[in-house]
Amino acid sequence: MPHHPDFPDSVRPSTAILTLGFDPGLSVGSARPAVFRSSTYVFSTPEAAQRAFDIMGGRAGLNEGEKIDLVYSRFSHPNAEILEDQIVPLETAASSAAVFNSGMAAIMTAFFTFARPDSSIVYTTPLYGGTTTLIHQFLGPLGVTGIPVPAGNSAALDDAIRAAKDPCIVLVETPANPTMIMTDIRRAAEAARRHPSRPIVMVDNTFLGPIFQHPLALGAGLCLYSATKYLSGFSDMIAGVAIAQDPQLILKIRSRRSLFGNILQPDECWMLDTRLPTVALRMNRQSKNAQRIAEAVAGRPQISRVIYPTLFDDAEQNRIRLAQCDYPGGMISLDFENGRDAAFSFLRHLKIIRNAVSLGGVESLSGMTPRELDEAGIGDGLVRLSIGIEDWRDLLSDIEQAFLRI
Ligand code: PLP
Repeated sequence: MPHHPDFPDSVRPSTAILTLGFDPGLSVGSARPAVFRSSTYVFSTPEAAQRAFDIMGGRAGLNEGEKIDLVYSRFSHPNAEILEDQIVPLETAASSAAVFNSGMAAIMTAFFTFARPDSSIVYTTPLYGGTTTLIHQFLGPLGVTGIPVPAGNSAALDDAIRAAKDPCIVLVETPANPTMIMTDIRRAAEAARRHPSRPIVMVDNTFLGPIFQHPLALGAGLCLYSATKYLSGFSDMIAGVAIAQDPQLILKIRSRRSLFGNILQPDECWMLDTRLPTVALRMNRQSKNAQRIAEAVAGRPQISRVIYPTLFDDAEQNRIRLAQCDYPGGMISLDFENGRDAAFSFLRHLKIIRNAVSLGGVESLSGMTPRELDEAGIGDGLVRLSIGIEDWRDLLSDIEQAFLRI
């Protein structure tokens, strides 16, 4: 049951997510995707098998519109293909995606696709701890030098890229965690284009994408996600995604994924696929809730600072925010006046907002990430809140009663 013969040539993302990328005719008419758990697939002909192997092994390129036989589920499987086709319309300017069994798997596979010996990776700090460890403990010994640059400092990023020895990757995480400092993606992409090594610009878009921030439209080569967070949205699965405008980049990444064996499994692909139509609804509600809460608690005596994009007081940060983010998002950081003791006391007294790592779920969570704080050079009293879809007035009351008990 392919599309209606008069299906419009183009539809908007929230329509595409429910109408494109999945053909019920390939799933015995099932209105929503079925789960295909098979580990191996029966070839239509020996020639088709040969062609599939040649393409999987990188010995031949895929022709425009060509579909090859499935081979083996470590390479790809129907639920990965459906998910990859359905996620593309959510990401502005994207054409192709690859799904992984964690955000770290997506980042690691992208790094191992584009890194080469005696090269360098320029990256913004603070950066997610796992990614920092990957750069220094795994890529460093393989001859790939990590070059950190403070987030938001466009001139320093330009200089670092210009001076870097054969840069292969520029990795931008924006907004940074937990400082929310934003880095200008367009300017990073322009600096990368000027370097003769033409490093690929990757953006970890976990905090604001794909709904509020669109790195591919700003010149980035690759968007990376911990789909564990907003994309899946219920704190019940671990997954990752890489998305690009250039399908050849994704083909290269998929060939590494086939070797590493870190593709997202069929059941998880099916789960993540069911969550995609509500990503925009959830993120919009989370952002509205967070903005109301952040603006309400700003100025309370227990906290020296509320870090939230609509409360930025730096002109350049405000310029970047307005240029590249549609809405401020669901993450707030509170810097407590009396440091760690006050922060711990606040966490102990929250009744609705639970204390756990991770973010982006429909339920609000609070957490401290001490190592990242040290690296970011900020105090030890910083608490990060991931705001969910509860009634914001209950969340605000919870925060206010915990303030009073510090
Ligand atoms: N990138 C960011 C910004 C994250 O917050 C996380 C996880 O916390 C990751 C990447 C890693 O994702 P995962 O835990 O799905 O491997």
